Amino acid sequence: MQFLLENRDAIRNEPCGLCGRLLSAPAGIQLLLAGSATPVCLDCGRKHTPSLAALVHLAEVAVRIGRIHRHSVFPPLTALLDLANAAEKYAQTANQ
Ligand SMILES: [Zn+2]
Repeated sequence: MQFLLENRDAIRNEPCGLCGRLLSAPAGIQLLLAGSATPVCLDCGRKHTPSLAALVHLAEVAVRIGRIHRHSVFPPLTALLDLANAAEKYAQTANQ
């Protein structure tokens, strides 16, 4: 199975291409099944392609922090910790 990441500008409400569960993928980086452009939920992504799933999560958190940062100079500590956790998880999966 091959996966790809795509930057989409709209929310998608479609069933996951692997487990069939309805997923609501936010706009931004989304995990898809290569060849079919069918979205894959993060649970299935974590099972089949942990590093790409971690990268999708990292991108979501980074976008959220970027939005906060536009409105305040210092994002809340919890948001920065989320970003650090997402980065750490990605680094762990990327090194496997
Ligand atoms: Zn799934």
